[in-house]
Formats: sequence, structure tokens, C-alpha cells
Amino acid sequence: MFTLSDKNVLEIINRLEENGFSAYAVGGCVRDLLIGREVNDYDVATSALPSQTKELFRDKKVIETGIKHGTVTVLYGGEPYEVTTYRTESAYSDSRHPDSVTFVDDIESDLARRDFTVNAMAYSPKRGSRDPFGGASDAVNKIIRAVGNAYERFDEDALRILRALRFASSLGFTIEPGTSKAIFDLKHKLKDISVERVYSELTKLVTGPYAAEVISAYRTVIEVFAPVCDCERLDLLPPVPAMRFAYLFGAGSAEVLRSLRSDNATASAAGLLANSRAIPADRIGIKRFAAEYGRESAVMIASYRRAAFGEDPGQEVESVAGSDECLSLKELAVKGRDLKKIGITGRRVGETLDILLSRVIDELIPNEKERLIRAAEEINS
Ligand code: ATP
Ligand code: MG
Repeated sequence: MFTLSDKNVLEIINRLEENGFSAYAVGGCVRDLLIGREVNDYDVATSALPSQTKELFRDKKVIETGIKHGTVTVLYGGEPYEVTTYRTESAYSDSRHPDSVTFVDDIESDLARRDFTVNAMAYSPKRGSRDPFGGASDAVNKIIRAVGNAYERFDEDALRILRALRFASSLGFTIEPGTSKAIFDLKHKLKDISVERVYSELTKLVTGPYAAEVISAYRTVIEVFAPVCDCERLDLLPPVPAMRFAYLFGAGSAEVLRSLRSDNATASAAGLLANSRAIPADRIGIKRFAAEYGRESAVMIASYRRAAFGEDPGQEVESVAGSDECLSLKELAVKGRDLKKIGITGRRVGETLDILLSRVIDELIPNEKERLIRAAEEINS
């Protein structure tokens, strides 16, 4: 079926097994191995308690990631591996954390608490595969299906609604009709989920290769958070959160992202992109554009608008931004002190520099010191 070839995870499982515990690779890594997708991170589930895992890996760095929930991270061969005790969980009444977790000694109960059948498989080189909910068959048929009753599972933790869309978007899977119906019926419950959890899943959802299709089918789910402006060409944009969010939420995207407590850089970049002006078609216009936004932002805006609206097909913005053309006061061949030497004072210094810069950008005068001084004298005469 597949081979688990990651040496570190094999050694972690082996060490647990040699010490009388059972252990499996579990969750997303098994799913990805099965469908031949690159594995993001390997998670291990084990019968060992967190304290026992810590003791067994005392020669490694072990981080107490979520010790109450049974998770420690073992740094093995320089890579982090989450090792979690088999557990079941109760409802998430605060919509952030399960109210309580109970450690159990069998993998099957652990798999039963997981969200989707394709995420509820386990594999051990010694014990073989465990797939109590038909995850392998769903993976082959590209189906996202809730483990057990979808209504109950979304009721326990509504974030799973967004996770279903996220996996559909990143894997190109279809959400099974029963699960899909529960998503539409319970989408309002997403309002109670902490915005940090929402933002993290939403980012993965919008940057997925199948985001356009998923969001157009489940638009009303996204609209629990904010009105969707457009999603048709979403897949054509680079998978950069700021670009995807700018396109999705339009002019108000910075406010939407701030309300979801995104990082500031993403929110401001999305706001800039969504409110950027069209890229001019002529060279001088493009120079003004690059001067207005600055070289770096102009290139980012160009990449966004090219993908979103088909502007600037010849990548003219990149060639202007990469050139040594004068586009800012810093690059202008005269400085304020040069103007003061010829008797220009006060406010007029800055105003004159601005006029000179715009004439240089417009190619009315060359960026040469003597020519600029002469022009400055004329302006102020
Ligand atoms: P990725 O490859 O993007 O990391 P993943 O499947 O590993 O995908 P994670 O969010 O890292 O997804 O979660 C790891 C595993 O934990 C999942 O495969 C699933 O079995 C389980 N899981 C995570 N979050 C939930 C949840 N909210 N409800 C139930 N099970 C969950
Ligand atoms: Mg993962």
C-alpha cells in the first residue's frame, strides 16, 4: 500500500514498542502517504503516558507542547515529532479546548475522536494499518466524510466545519453529501470559535489549490465571517495569504483580517493590494506607479493584479522596479542642502524637491545635478 520511510518516526515508534508500549504513525501523515502526497509532519499516537514518553526520550530534547492533552514534542534528528497519548475528548464548551481529555489504552478509541475518516487512520510497521472508518477507501475516492455522525461532530467542535473545507481545498477532495448538509445546517456555530483557530484554518483554506471551487460552493460558510467579494480566480493567485485574502474579501479585507486577529503584516498587505490602483499601460505611468508605492510593494501589487485581473502581461513593473531609474527623493541627484546653497529656504526646499522628482520621473529633465539646480532656480525665480 505504502511505505513509511521516515527514519526518525520509525525509530520513535520502535523505541516505544521495545519498551512495552504500542505506537502508531497517525492522522494526516498516514493520509498523505496513502495518496502519495508530501507529508507535512509526522504525528505519533501511543499508549505511553506523556511522562513515560519524556522519560523514554530523555536523551533528546522534549518539549511539553500540551502535556495536559497528552502531547509532547520530541526533537529527533533535528525534526519535531508530536507524540500523543491515546485519548478521547469531551465537548469543546469554550470552543477552544476540549473540556477534558481522558487517556485510553487503545488506538481505536483515539481514532474515533478524530474529525474525518481520511484523518482517522493509523499505521505501524509492526502492527499494520488501523482504519476503522473506511478512511483508505475515502482517500482513494477523494472524499471528506465526518467520523460518525456529522451533526454531533460539528456540534462538539464547529471548527471541523472549516477544516472540512480546508481539506477539500488543499487536497481537491469532495465533501460527502451528509457531511456537506451538516456543514450548511451548523455553519452559524463557527461564530463561537476562537478567532485564532478560525484564522489558522481559513489561511490554509484560501491558499489551497482548489480554493476557488470550494469557496464558490460553500460561500455562505465563509460569509459567517465576512462578505465574499470574489472567488472565481482565486486559484490563479500565488498561494500567498495576503493576496488570496485581498481577492476574497476585497476593499475591506484589512479590517476583516484584523477582526480575525491575523498578523499585522498580512492585514496591511491585503488592504494595500485590495485597494491598489490599476497598473498603467505606458512606461511613464508605470514609473509613477512604482514611485507611488515603492519598488517592493509595486512588484507585489503587479503580481497580484496580473493574476487577478490580467493586467501588466509583459511584467513591465518588474523591469522598471529592477532598473536604476530615479523613482524616489533618495535617488534624486540633488539634496535639500544643494537647494539651500542656492538660497532656497523653508517649505520651498521640500516642495522644490518634489517637483524636481516628478519632472525626472516624467523624463522632462535628466537626473543630473547641474540640470536639476538650474531647474530649481527657474521654479523659485
Ligand atoms: P496537515 O497535513 O495540514 O498538517 P493534518 O491532518 O495533519 O494536516 P492537523 O491540523 O495537523 O491536520 O491535525 C492532525 C490530526 O489531528 C488530524 O489529522 C486529525 O486526525 C486530528 N485533528 C486535528 N484537529 C482536530 C479537530 N478539531 N477535531 C478532531 N480531530 C482533529
Ligand atoms: Mg499536521
